[in-house]
Amino acid sequence: MHQIACHACDLVQDIPPMPAGSSACCTRCGTVLFRAKVNSIDRTLAWTIAGLVLYGVAVTFPFLAMKSGPINQQTTLLSGVQQLYMQGENVLASLVLLTCLLVPLLQMCILLFIFIPLKINVRVNNSIPVFRLFQHLNAWSMMEIYLLGILVAIVKLAKMATIVPGLAVVAFGLLVFVLTFAISSVDTHMVWERLGGES
Ligand SMILES: [Zn+2]
Repeated sequence: MHQIACHACDLVQDIPPMPAGSSACCTRCGTVLFRAKVNSIDRTLAWTIAGLVLYGVAVTFPFLAMKSGPINQQTTLLSGVQQLYMQGENVLASLVLLTCLLVPLLQMCILLFIFIPLKINVRVNNSIPVFRLFQHLNAWSMMEIYLLGILVAIVKLAKMATIVPGLAVVAFGLLVFVLTFAISSVDTHMVWERLGGES
């Protein structure tokens, strides 16, 4: 319990421990005294860990299975990228590898690197430049575009062969949302304040 003075009417009042996301109003004039921040650290960590699990599933499980007569071909995310390289689409393969696989993984690793020490109150070297890198990485994550491309490809290929989306497609689709939630849970102002850097 701590005391706070209303900045509108100067009434001093006790503020009990408050649930995250709620706000306290002055008992006399109704002015908002204090807003409890939603627990950014726990939420970011939870979404990030969920994201890493989904990422593991998306990379290891079959992505698409294509059946056309006697031909039955199965691909994973990585074998898809490998196929692009083998077909000479080096630029496209590198872009897919970078924007859909490496950048999201790096983003999640950075979130763990920043938020686990914040959670357990430990200082880690280089967290300021790493967090700065994280803020630049968002522009390089294009998983949702890739997902859209996959959906278009499935619809088009469905006319020629039987396409069976694998578990990895579902995991990848969920990962797009989970990673968005993880990134939007980051309270940038709080992180910079805790790291002692300038935003
Ligand atoms: Zn008041």
